Amino acid sequence: MSLPLSASRLVRYATCPRAYAWKYRYHYPEPGGGGRRQRLGILLHATLGRFWQDWLGRRGDRSLGHLERLWRQGGGELEKPEQTSGWHALESYYLQEVRRPEPPRPFASEGRLRHSLVLDRVDVQFESRYDLLLWGEPDRRGVAGIDLVEFKTARQVRSLSQLEADLQLSCYILGIGAQYGQALRTVSHYYLLSGEKLTFAVQPHHQRYALEKAQRLVANLLDGGDWEPKPGSHCRRCGYRSQCDLSNPRQLPPESAGYARPEQPLVLTLF
Ligand code: SF4
Repeated sequence: MSLPLSASRLVRYATCPRAYAWKYRYHYPEPGGGGRRQRLGILLHATLGRFWQDWLGRRGDRSLGHLERLWRQGGGELEKPEQTSGWHALESYYLQEVRRPEPPRPFASEGRLRHSLVLDRVDVQFESRYDLLLWGEPDRRGVAGIDLVEFKTARQVRSLSQLEADLQLSCYILGIGAQYGQALRTVSHYYLLSGEKLTFAVQPHHQRYALEKAQRLVANLLDGGDWEPKPGSHCRRCGYRSQCDLSNPRQLPPESAGYARPEQPLVLTLF
């Protein structure tokens, strides 16, 4: 057994250890958290996944017509307005990102990056998902890095906080380095329904950023964890705010409660 980690877990812990403990240590239901993915979003992701897998499989057809055929195969179960807006989103994406003077060079589509390492004698397993990996432009030494793309289907473009962006980049750097032996250059969020794109460039400090946060979390877990609440502007988006009584330091759910399913115990790796 080990401690599973992802960028979203690390963001939660770095933002507020109390919220982390409720969600990941005690699996306490988060009111209003998550939410169901829209059918349109699922089908857009599935269509683009098929399109890029076909491209990588060298089946030859990389045309807009092929993308439309794939959309019709899955999108037919949607209502007419969703079918139309879904196709417009895919067509705009194709014209903006695929039909370019220099065609994109895909490296991998729809996958998970996994790697593990030992921190403070605890086996920590990082996992990140990606939608698309592309070869980036070669640098001055002629070495090409990887550009990672995530497809978003939210209607509004949400700019990531610096913390989220830094941790996400850091986790992707570790995963791509461990799994493919490649260097990450950028991470882009492409908002399909608006056609907007946010791109984050890798900076030198990202290399160790997630490791530092993970080390702090592991130390907290090994100490027994005090899971102090850390109030701030992020509380507005926290699903636990209605239960969060900052005057009561012992408000974590008791382990005997029905909903309490404490995180798996940490396993120490002995040398
Ligand atoms: S409301 Fe704020 S302080 Fe309370 S758990 Fe959520 S993020 Fe932490």
